[in-house]
Amino acid sequence: MMLRKRVLVTGGAGFLGSHLCERLLADGNDVICLDNFFTGTKDNVAPLLGDPHFELMRHDVTFPLYVEVDEIYNLACPASPIHYQHDPVQTTKTSVHGAINMLGLAKRLRAKVFQASTSEVYGDPDVHPQPESYRGYVNPIGPRACYDEGKRCAETLFFDYFRQHRLRIRVARIFNTYGPRMHPNDGRVVSNFVVQALQNKPLTIYGDGSQTRSFCYVDDLIEGFVRLMAAPDAVTGPVNLGNPAEFTIRQLAEMAVAMTGSKSKLEFRPLPEDDPKQRRPDIAIAGKELGWKPTVKLEDGLRKTIAYFDEFLRRTS
Ligand code: NAD
Ligand code: UDP
Ligand code: UDP
Repeated sequence: MMLRKRVLVTGGAGFLGSHLCERLLADGNDVICLDNFFTGTKDNVAPLLGDPHFELMRHDVTFPLYVEVDEIYNLACPASPIHYQHDPVQTTKTSVHGAINMLGLAKRLRAKVFQASTSEVYGDPDVHPQPESYRGYVNPIGPRACYDEGKRCAETLFFDYFRQHRLRIRVARIFNTYGPRMHPNDGRVVSNFVVQALQNKPLTIYGDGSQTRSFCYVDDLIEGFVRLMAAPDAVTGPVNLGNPAEFTIRQLAEMAVAMTGSKSKLEFRPLPEDDPKQRRPDIAIAGKELGWKPTVKLEDGLRKTIAYFDEFLRRTS
């Protein structure tokens, strides 16, 4: 009989978490999906509920958790500025107390533990593109700090448990990722532009749209997660995972309009405080250590994302 690994995914009912659960089941694992449904929904994992190897658990990671698993992916945390700034104290607690609890659980079980960190640890970077060795330019008291500093502290905890308790850790710094099952109202740029374009509403460009981001399609990212978890224990990270193809926000808006055949106009709004001007991952380490690089072009990923939101809007309107 094949021995199934038992894998815990916190934040498993969210955008990335639901894709990860799907992938882990397809790879023959037993999956516990844990979520408090703050930004995630049961709908994201509804197709998995009939699988006997899938279990959905309502729980908040800021509280201790006692389950028996072999691997833990810690994704629980609101990820978009609107959501993480809604209750900033809770955001920091989720990152920090959540990390402590998942590390404590991993320590008791001697399980491998993966942290979904973020390019936000680099802040508004003055080094471009960003390698893992760059220590970042973060405002510790601004509106994004609850997320950025929470994630930085979680990385600190992961490396202290690694050094102090010899835990097997994996830390991924995720750059902007998009795809089906993004939250339609969480204010992130790809979901906003696609939904606005499909509804022929103005596309809201913050600032003059010259700021840049590099967009990774979700399937590419999940492949990177799985490779990092499977890598030798010496590969702790932090490792950047993202797509280095860089676009201005204005270019993205123009693509969304063109690809949906929309009548939408571009509308310029004030730039939010501390909004990073540029962002692009240096993925040399992921290439060398994991043999990983993204394969989906923005245009192809956007086509799938547009198809998802088109269907979603028809279903929910
Ligand atoms: P998401 O909001 O869709 O998913 C986060 C999930 O965590 C949601 O299902 C939410 O309900 C759950 N959650 C939040 N607080 C919780 C708590 N206290 N206890 C239990 N569950 C909780 O966002 P996502 O884009 O899927 O992000 C997943 C992870 O990846 C996050 O940790 C995020 O910081 C990280 N990340 C994402 C991106 C990206 O571009 N999507 C970029 C960098 C980092
Ligand atoms: N913890 C947990 N599940 C476990 C073991 C620990 O949720 O199976 C939590 C527990 O709440 C603890 C935290 O993880 O506060 C850190 O655990 P650790 O053993 O590192 O520290 P300690 O228990 O000594 O505070
Ligand atoms: N943005 C925008 N219009 C929107 C939503 C976002 O111009 O409707 C901009 C935002 O100011 C930022 C970029 O798009 O410069 C990416 O924003 P997002 O919230 O998706 O991610 P993050 O800022 O965390 O990279």
